[in-house]
Amino acid sequence: MKRITIQVGSYEVNCSLLCEGGDAWIVDPGAEGERIVRTLRAAALSPKAILLTHAHFDHIGAIPFLQREYPDLPVALHANDVPMLGHPFNANPPDYPQTGVPRNIVAIDPSAPAERSPLPPGVSAIETPGHTPGGLCYYIESLGTVLTGDTLFAGSAGRTDFPGGSMTQLMRSLAMLCELPGATVAVPGHGPETTIAAEKADNPYLAT
Ligand SMILES: [Zn+2]
Ligand SMILES: [Zn+2]
Repeated sequence: MKRITIQVGSYEVNCSLLCEGGDAWIVDPGAEGERIVRTLRAAALSPKAILLTHAHFDHIGAIPFLQREYPDLPVALHANDVPMLGHPFNANPPDYPQTGVPRNIVAIDPSAPAERSPLPPGVSAIETPGHTPGGLCYYIESLGTVLTGDTLFAGSAGRTDFPGGSMTQLMRSLAMLCELPGATVAVPGHGPETTIAAEKADNPYLAT
């Protein structure tokens, strides 16, 4: 598996393409659908699914564009974040494409058998509520990489003051991420990459 990460939109969301052979899974297509499609085409990739770390507007803005280009493309996310799609509090700012409720929503259930999972082989979803009720981190063991969405940032962690947020849950989720190998590269939803070891050493949210 290979990972291509680009920053999209004015909130500079890290949108990652997880690539296996000619297939790609698009994680958090926040905006700039055209550029995401260009990146896919340049690498001769055909997208299998959109995967969301969570459903906040800055992580989903390019879904309508992508589903126009690839009409059957499913949108996979945790069931607890599905109600956020199309909800007024999650409305996009005027400079963002309006998302509404996408077609082909597939719920990711981390406890479901692998053959029913929309995730690429070798990728597992870790339930990390707190920033949102249905927060997920995607762990790619072969790459030693975890996509942490807005749960863990370099030197910081996600806000919990949005509807459905919970500091208690966030702290528990961060503790789970700490159980990954220290050398694991963490790719947050925004900002620079880091490692689990570096965050355990320096991140005030992970101080024990
Ligand atoms: Zn968020
Ligand atoms: Zn975000």
